[in-house]
Amino acid sequence: MEFVILAVVIAVVAIGAIAGLVVSGRRRQQLPPKSQAPVITAPKPTPQEPQVGEEAAPPTEEPRRTVEEVELPEAPEAVEVEAPEEAEAAPAVEVPEPTAGRLVRLRSRLSRSQNSLGKGLLSLLSREHLDEDTWEEIEETLLTADVGVAPTQELVERLRTRVKVLGTRTPDELRGLLREELVELIGTDADRTVHSTKHEEGPAVVLVVGVNGVGKTTTTGKLARVLVADGRKVVLGAADTFRAAAADQLQTWGERVGARTVRGPEGGDPASIAFDAVKEGIAEGADTVLVDTAGRLHTKTGLMDELGKVKRVVEKHGPVDEVLLVLDATTGQNGLIQARVFAEVVDITGIVLTKLDGTAKGGIVIAVQRELGVPVKLVGLGEGADDLAPFEPGAFVDALIGD
Ligand code: GDP
Repeated sequence: MEFVILAVVIAVVAIGAIAGLVVSGRRRQQLPPKSQAPVITAPKPTPQEPQVGEEAAPPTEEPRRTVEEVELPEAPEAVEVEAPEEAEAAPAVEVPEPTAGRLVRLRSRLSRSQNSLGKGLLSLLSREHLDEDTWEEIEETLLTADVGVAPTQELVERLRTRVKVLGTRTPDELRGLLREELVELIGTDADRTVHSTKHEEGPAVVLVVGVNGVGKTTTTGKLARVLVADGRKVVLGAADTFRAAAADQLQTWGERVGARTVRGPEGGDPASIAFDAVKEGIAEGADTVLVDTAGRLHTKTGLMDELGKVKRVVEKHGPVDEVLLVLDATTGQNGLIQARVFAEVVDITGIVLTKLDGTAKGGIVIAVQRELGVPVKLVGLGEGADDLAPFEPGAFVDALIGD
């Protein structure tokens, strides 16, 4: 009996061992050989994707966490939000400085003119003996300061007479006398306003003309600011299609004060841009349309064709109110020659003298008015946005001779 039991136990153990060997052998067969990298295959898409509203099956492998076990995230550190860089920000519309009294504020910029004209004349007139030589020096001072021959002779004549009548002279009397005579020579009767008031039919139109480099585009931009400062709504026409950067330059000026710029392709037809600018001005209900023109002075006929066409085309909408000639005051006689040519081509209604803060001599104001019989309406006294001032004879002479 014992033998039978022992035999059964041995048989059971043997069967178990054989079964174990078979199972492990099968497993070994299923494992990939060690050298072979396991191939990871993307899971096959489930034939049916979960639809909106169906709940996802809760993960079963991981024990579910209770609320207490959930770690709370740390409070985030305060993040400083940087202000956007200026270049990326939408351009802010600037509020230009008021125009009243600009010339007084900018008077120190006229230092060069002061020394060559005002101060020079005053010191000569203050000499104890005003002999012929001194009068000749006075005349020379005026000519060197670009006053021009005829106005110089007139002024010297008047000064001689008045000094004689005066007899003894105090510095204050001399300053007063010189001031009066210079103001008289520049003239106080002329209408120096830039005609920019809207008509019933549409906006006032101002054409800005002049040769390249005199500061025409800059002046158009500054003038837009002057008009905006005075409460006008302005549209700009970039009709200087000859100079590559002029339209961009003008548009930047316009954006700074919220004025729209009408422009066309580079090298495009200036007259059609001018026409479109006025059309836009009418549509927007603008007060003033300022048109920056191309100022090529290659030949007089060429200039006449260009400017004449711009003017004619614009006049299809209505009258042109102003034709402002921009002259670089530092060019002296050359500026006068340009003035003459432009005046023959188009009816100039006002002069803008730029760069009076540079090496210009103040006398050019007198000479150019004489030459054209047209008043100086604006003066440029620097490259800054608000460095364009309405011209006032009294303030200008005060700046020249000091008060
Ligand atoms: P444009 O070719 O006639 O349109 O000339 P721009 O308007 O481009 O001006 C030519 C240069 O003259 C620019 O560098 C301006 O900044 C400068 N400019 C214009 N007006 C004045 C001014 O009144 N004073 C000074 N110092 N520079 C000026």
